[in-house]
Amino acid sequence: MKMYIVILGVILLIAGIGGAAYYGFVPRTRVYGAIGVAIVGIVVAALGAMTKTTTSASATTTGQFTCTKCGAKFGSEAALNQHTKDKHGM
Ligand SMILES: [Zn+2]
Repeated sequence: MKMYIVILGVILLIAGIGGAAYYGFVPRTRVYGAIGVAIVGIVVAALGAMTKTTTSASATTTGQFTCTKCGAKFGSEAALNQHTKDKHGM
């Protein structure tokens, strides 16, 4: 999950709903525009939530690579491979 994309979507959603409520007192076309922004926000948030599998398939926890031998955590797969080679001789 890309949290910043989800947050961006939620902000758009809130802005759209807020805009729809605000423009509720003026011509209808602006309300539709604000609702459109809210729908875009929902789509962006959903896309952000669905990007989970594409970011790092081999990571067990959020953006982290854990050594299966000793449980040490690394920020990248290359660092983990280097550690595995150096510490465990694999
Ligand atoms: Zn290790």
